[in-house]
Amino acid sequence: MGTKTIMVKLKRPSKRKHSMWVKEQNEYAKTVNKCVQRLSNGEKLSSKNVSSNLKYAIKNEAIRKAKKAISDVKKGLAKSIPVFRNSIGISINNQNWNTVCKNDRWYISFCTTEKKVTMPVIESGAVKTFFPYLIISKREFRGTVQLIRKGKDWYIAIPIQMFCDLKSISTKLPFDAYTSIGVDLGLRHLAVLSEPFSHTRQFFSGKKVGYIRRHFHSLRRSLGTKKAQRAIERIGKKESNWMKDYNRKLAKEIVDFALQFDKPMIKLEQLDTIRTTCKSLKRVDRTIHNWAFYELKTCIKECAKKFNVPVVDINPYQTSQTCFNCGHTEKCNRNKEKFACKSCGYTDHADLNASNNIATSTSLAV
Ligand SMILES: [Zn+2]
Repeated sequence: MGTKTIMVKLKRPSKRKHSMWVKEQNEYAKTVNKCVQRLSNGEKLSSKNVSSNLKYAIKNEAIRKAKKAISDVKKGLAKSIPVFRNSIGISINNQNWNTVCKNDRWYISFCTTEKKVTMPVIESGAVKTFFPYLIISKREFRGTVQLIRKGKDWYIAIPIQMFCDLKSISTKLPFDAYTSIGVDLGLRHLAVLSEPFSHTRQFFSGKKVGYIRRHFHSLRRSLGTKKAQRAIERIGKKESNWMKDYNRKLAKEIVDFALQFDKPMIKLEQLDTIRTTCKSLKRVDRTIHNWAFYELKTCIKECAKKFNVPVVDINPYQTSQTCFNCGHTEKCNRNKEKFACKSCGYTDHADLNASNNIATSTSLAV
């Protein structure tokens, strides 16, 4: 086990935040220097006898920093008692910062004296590797971070404790070392997830999406065709925004399902269009469905990448007609929602049977 520090760049903050943190830095440096002075005069310091305009937790960090500077001199690690400049990094303890994932984007939230902020970060490789780990790890495993300024740019330096199981999420393992999660995408159920060996499964109904789509559809119709073209376009945009947001949330839930298992791997069918089990669909509806379906797959892949969960495309050939129990393949094994094997008599929900087949398939689509 060791510690590695990663530098995470914040997206350029507003002028107000910039000056708020500069002010904080000045006050912090002033407090540390004052404490260093008093310590070298032989005084004993505690949070009670040090006054400062800093938030209580940050003041304590300032005192700690001063004590460290003095002890370094005593131990011969530093030559002289330093004077800290205003460019000093502000220490923020583990109770006052957090990583946040919102709409597939990474943020870091932290408290300085004036207020708590949640800042988007530049998503570097280190962010992608370590933020998912930070979000699931308990507070006691988190260290004290530093808010650092370089010119107009701001960074958070995060110490990462390296445990051996951390390696498993950043390195590639042989295929069979993963727990395979089958994801069957469709219309009746948007997604059916399964991990066949533990019999864990989850269904996501397509009803809500159908409802919303019909709502927008009737809204469009009621506006007429020629007159309110603009309004129609606006609704179209609203609908696609809604769908995108929905797909992102669903993708996150799928990845969350996978994350409950050790070394998960998500398997999707390589389909460019949705399986046309619903022939009643009008062409326009099918187009929208195919587009939403493609978008959902993209969202799953993006989200899984953030959590270092590999996603593989599986050859979709006969996954819905093959019996998960005995392997017998016949078209009439499947009758709409029901799967009933003509050979062994095994019955199951058709989408779940497909999902199980996807999970155990080793036929990669290339
Ligand atoms: Zn069978």
